[in-house]
Amino acid sequence: MNTPKLTLIASDPATSWQDSLSDLITDPTALLNLLQLSESQLPISRAAAGQFPLKVPRPFVAKMKLGDWNDPLLLQVWPAQAEETLSEGYNADPLAETASNPIAGLLHKYQGRVLLTAAPHCAVHCRYCFRRHFDYGENSPNRALWQRCFDYIKADLSIEEVILSGGDPLALSDKQLSWMLDQIDAIEHVSTVRIHSRVPVVIPQRVTPDLINLLARRRSKVVLVVHCNHGNEIDSEFAQRMRQLSTNGITLLNQSVILSGINDKLETLVELSKKLFAANVLPYYLHLPDEVQGTAHFDIDRGRAIGLLAKMRQQLPGYLTPKLVKEHPGEASKTQYI
Ligand SMILES: *Cc1c(COP(=O)(O)O)cnc(C)c1O
Ligand code: SF4
Repeated sequence: MNTPKLTLIASDPATSWQDSLSDLITDPTALLNLLQLSESQLPISRAAAGQFPLKVPRPFVAKMKLGDWNDPLLLQVWPAQAEETLSEGYNADPLAETASNPIAGLLHKYQGRVLLTAAPHCAVHCRYCFRRHFDYGENSPNRALWQRCFDYIKADLSIEEVILSGGDPLALSDKQLSWMLDQIDAIEHVSTVRIHSRVPVVIPQRVTPDLINLLARRRSKVVLVVHCNHGNEIDSEFAQRMRQLSTNGITLLNQSVILSGINDKLETLVELSKKLFAANVLPYYLHLPDEVQGTAHFDIDRGRAIGLLAKMRQQLPGYLTPKLVKEHPGEASKTQYI
């Protein structure tokens, strides 16, 4: 599509990440106006927006194309009418996470690893997200409650890795993040801290020299898993900051979700892997979407996804081909299809 790249709105690298985070676009009409689109071109579902509101940072909007209602980044955040379709076998907690939630804020599903729902919110609302029905209200502990999570980890010598995940840990302030990392670093049997975050993709300015210092001075090995679904999400701002993290000893991986109409083409996936690698990020997981109510329109046939990955493997080195995975409740790990 020959539409010009949008550069007018605040993609100004000088805008602080805190300003970007407090100046999110939450009004669908405002987003349409910024992108020079009308509601007749891109209808909205008020019901979907009511259940899981529109939320998108301006630096991410700046990577969308003007006048393109099919833009792959826009479709990831737009409350579409297709979300109103009720689909059988889709529900609010497809991963049955409530079952492995021994204390508020902590999920212990897999051997040696626990996941902390570190932040009560995200910087962006991704429509396909399996956490769109998650009750962060009940899972956003204060310091005293976090202490119970750390006590749980201390008491279980088999836990070697602590994962800070969704909400988005990098939506926390440096002070909050640093406090959590200090607590984890103090538990000797934990050797690795992993951070799952989409913030560096939607607000690259979040990766400040202060954040890099805060991550680089750890006893534990630090892994940052970003979440990028399409090559258009990778700009020089993102790439430059990823390279700085990498230079400072942070291991960088990416996880994506394969989404119908967004990144389910061979060229798109190949380009994504190449652009990630140019930014020192290796592809890790490509998730098949979860059966979350309201997201069936993003689904792609499993056989077709496996076929795409097999073709990708022919064009790229093994280290640039992600593992196609899906989470099944009760399994000891994510299931790998190819
Ligand atoms: C995905 C996930 C992990 C990490 O799994 P890896 O295969 O090590 O990436 C850990 N805990 C939970 C609850 C998860 O969903
Ligand atoms: S940033 Fe991650 S956890 Fe938050 S809505 Fe998007 S996919 Fe879900």
